[in-house]
Amino acid sequence: MIDFHCHLDLYPDPFSVRDECAKRGLYLVSVTTTPSAWKKTVGLALNSPRVRTALGLHPQLAGEREFELPLFDQTLKATRYVGEVGLDGGREYKPTWDAQLRVFEHVLRSSSDAGGRVISIHSRRASGAVLDSLTAFPSAGIPVLHWFSGSLRDLDRAVRIGCWFSIGCAMLAGEKGRSLVKRMPRELVLTESDGPFAKVNGKSIMPWSVEDAVSQLSLIWNVSATSTQKLIAENFRRLCASSLALETGD
Ligand code: MN
Repeated sequence: MIDFHCHLDLYPDPFSVRDECAKRGLYLVSVTTTPSAWKKTVGLALNSPRVRTALGLHPQLAGEREFELPLFDQTLKATRYVGEVGLDGGREYKPTWDAQLRVFEHVLRSSSDAGGRVISIHSRRASGAVLDSLTAFPSAGIPVLHWFSGSLRDLDRAVRIGCWFSIGCAMLAGEKGRSLVKRMPRELVLTESDGPFAKVNGKSIMPWSVEDAVSQLSLIWNVSATSTQKLIAENFRRLCASSLALETGD
C-alpha cells in the first residue's frame, strides 16, 4: 500500500511509526514543511527503502521561512521528491500571500532548472492560483495535488495540465471530497494519510489508514478492494517510472 503524503517527522514517535510501516510493507512519501527539517527527516528513512523523503516549504510557513530558500536549492539535488509546497488561500494566511507566491514559484523554478521533480502540492482555497503557477512552470516535473478541494472546473483543468491526485480518509469523509474523487481519472489517483495533521474522529491518522481509503475508493469505483489496491499500486509504479526519467544530480 501507498501513503503518498505523510508528515512522518511530526508524529510524537516517528521511529515506531516508521518501523510499523516497514512491517506492513507500506510505501511512504515523507514530506517536510521546512528545508531545515530535511536533514533529520531523511535520517528517519535510512535503511527504509520504501520511504522517499520530500523537500518542502509549506505555504502556511512561507511567511516566516522564506529565508530558507537557499537551503532548499542546496538540498534539491538530494531528492526526486518535493513537498509539501503550494499555496493556502485561507483567510488566516492572506497576510503572507505574496511570500507564499514567491516561495512556490521559486520552488517550481528551481525544480524546473534541476530537471523536474515529483511535487506534492497543497492547494487549500487556492486551487486556481496553484494551477496558474503550474502552468507558468510546465517543466517543474510531476505535480501531485494532495487533498484537492477545489471546484470541479479546476479539477478538470488540473487533469488537463498533467496533475495527479493523492487522497485520504479525511477527504473521503465529506460529500464534496467524494464528488471530486468520483470525477478524477482513476489512473491518476494515489492514496495518502496526511497524518498526523489529518484527523478522523479527533484522532491523528496513521499511514496505514490508507487501507480505509482503499476500501472507500472501492465503494466509489464499485470494484473490489483488491482491484482498487492493484490499481493504486500500478499508478504508483507508473509515477515512479516517470520520475526516473526526470534528471537529478545522482
Ligand atoms: Mn500535509
